[in-house]
Amino acid sequence: MKLIRSLSGLGREIRSIQSQAKSIGFVPTMGALHVGHAALIRSARRECDRVVVSIFVNPIQFGPREDFKRYPRDRGRDLAFCRKEAVDLVFAPDAPSIYPEGFQTFVEVGELAERLCGLSRPSHFRGVATVCAKLFNLIRPDRAYFGKKDYQQLLIIERMVRDLHLEVEIRPVETVREKDGLAVSSRNRYLSFEERKRATSLYRSLLEGKSGILQGERDPKKVVAGMKRHLRTQVTRIDYVEILDADNLRPMAPLKGKIVIALACFLGETRLIDNVTLRV
Ligand code: AMP
Repeated sequence: MKLIRSLSGLGREIRSIQSQAKSIGFVPTMGALHVGHAALIRSARRECDRVVVSIFVNPIQFGPREDFKRYPRDRGRDLAFCRKEAVDLVFAPDAPSIYPEGFQTFVEVGELAERLCGLSRPSHFRGVATVCAKLFNLIRPDRAYFGKKDYQQLLIIERMVRDLHLEVEIRPVETVREKDGLAVSSRNRYLSFEERKRATSLYRSLLEGKSGILQGERDPKKVVAGMKRHLRTQVTRIDYVEILDADNLRPMAPLKGKIVIALACFLGETRLIDNVTLRV
């Protein structure tokens, strides 16, 4: 496994892979790797000749009061993780290589970024889209792998690829969960013992909402109200609970077609997100 930090080194490696006519599967991450990331890496491993993982805590996708500084960073552990998953190349640049002095060009996301996490994290998706566009340009992957756990991010990246005619196929990967249903996340390690127990309420309430809909409830307001009643007894604060069209994230009533139930809640200071999709 190769570890590359510089853009020039990366360019050399990518040209060498391409000269051998090998396909590239790319998994962008912020490190603190876990079984959710492993699922993405394994999908890439199955479908591509070479697997490239990036590890980069992207400063421009964090708001001023968010956890950029305390986001978990453990390079040694992440590299050992990648080695075990048979990754071919890890790209771990520093921030000035990606955002050199004078950097001022961004990918601006439209309506898809205006709901859900976009409301409480105003420049988050612009930061995500910008860094993904840069990484796609640098790595030139055939396929890039994204978790459905970050459903809005997945839709935004798919949209960006279409809108900017990027030559990469976006491959969605199912959310990996702990035994008790909690979606695996690098931020779960912030939780105290007590908060960790209460965090199971996120997925439980999603399942409760889903089963209400499957049993015939078509009024999103009623489903959301029921979910919030349950969540309020467990979490510190609800950021949002919404039921939207799964293709364009627009609200709808009555519920029909492919929908996503998405939520974000705080447990103490830690903000966790989760979602489920279903067809009505
Ligand atoms: P992150 O390092 O948190 O930015 O995540 C990198 C990628 O891993 C994103 O595409 C996430 O959606 C994906 N991911 C994170 N957690 C999970 C999970 N529990 N299941 C599946 N994919 C995940």
